[in-house]
Amino acid sequence: MLGKIRPVGSRVPAMDDSAAPPYAWEPGYQTVFMASGTAALSAAVAIARSRKPHIDQPEILMPAYGCPDLVAAVIAQGGTPVLVDLEPGLPWMDRDQFRQQVNANTVAAVGVGFLGISERLSALSLICHDNDLLLIEDSAQCFPPVCATQPFADCAVLSFGRGKPINLMGGGALLVKSDLAGQPLDVVGACPSSRMDTGVLWRLQRMIFNLLMMRVPFYILEKIPFLNIGETHFKPLDSVSRLDLPRPLLGAGIRAFCRRPSTQELYSQQLAFAETMGWSLLGRRAGGEGMPILRYGLLAPTEGVRNRVARALNRRGIGASTFYHRSLPHIEGLESVFAGVECPHADGFAARLVTLPCHEDVTSADVALIAQIIRDQGSDHPVA
Ligand SMILES: *Cc1c(COP(=O)(O)O)cnc(C)c1O
Repeated sequence: MLGKIRPVGSRVPAMDDSAAPPYAWEPGYQTVFMASGTAALSAAVAIARSRKPHIDQPEILMPAYGCPDLVAAVIAQGGTPVLVDLEPGLPWMDRDQFRQQVNANTVAAVGVGFLGISERLSALSLICHDNDLLLIEDSAQCFPPVCATQPFADCAVLSFGRGKPINLMGGGALLVKSDLAGQPLDVVGACPSSRMDTGVLWRLQRMIFNLLMMRVPFYILEKIPFLNIGETHFKPLDSVSRLDLPRPLLGAGIRAFCRRPSTQELYSQQLAFAETMGWSLLGRRAGGEGMPILRYGLLAPTEGVRNRVARALNRRGIGASTFYHRSLPHIEGLESVFAGVECPHADGFAARLVTLPCHEDVTSADVALIAQIIRDQGSDHPVA
């Protein structure tokens, strides 16, 4: 059958002018809307710098596997990204290495939530507190952010881009802890502000976007080579600006998110057998608790099995993704930034990861087909 279920992305909500109640993280954190998640992260790095203005070469700790935008956000503020390898087979930074990487030039650490799996922020916050580092929670892939219930982070980052839990076709937010010392809001306030027009054009764009997400249009769109859908590149961040995103629009996005069915349980049940074949169900660790997650992550027993299963799933119309493909030192455009940096666990993670779609259009028939394909092809001795 012609058609393909997209790997990620939920429908853009309709603009809703009803008054938005306070967000779950308020009043503990103040909300500043930014042009993107990357801009929000960069503004957080600027806050970290402003707290230690005497440091010329500020260093920012981050995981060695992740979105290249993290690097762009740091470089845009004149900072040096310092990588921390992962725990084996897990999306979390190795805590011993994290401690070892802290030095007199370190100003901040970014704890990144990965596909609904949050970082261990409580432990990181202790190390950050002892060393006077700003702890930034990057929650671009997780909603709600941990800080909505547990205020470990000094700042948190949300993204409203296309492949994120709440899709507003762009934009982001920086959440700043209300009792953070210094003048953090003055630092962010110094960023230029851009206008967000949610008029007729926005509504038209929303309609087209939502249409293109369906199985047949997505299948065709993916075949267009110059669109490069799903590819990861390093893109420098040119400007860090705020955005006048209407609060009710985010309110509508949050409501739509909360109504979305969760596929996490179904995947965990239907794929449980794969654990006996050497697969690891990362998606089990995602803190959905009835809330939807962005994608369901799996680690295959080997890179070869991962590649075979990802190909087989895509041939059968399932948008399975190998995500960033590589650890940050091996992403195109970043080789010179991280020359000589070794991160064997992040490399292994990148080589074995496959993600499954979790959005509102995934059906139980899709999940059954995915389970069948993994059953047949998911070991070194495939059945078919
Ligand atoms: C997407 C993403 C970002 C950047 O968000 P944009 O809104 O696309 O700029 C930052 N961090 C993580 C973990 C992301 O997944």
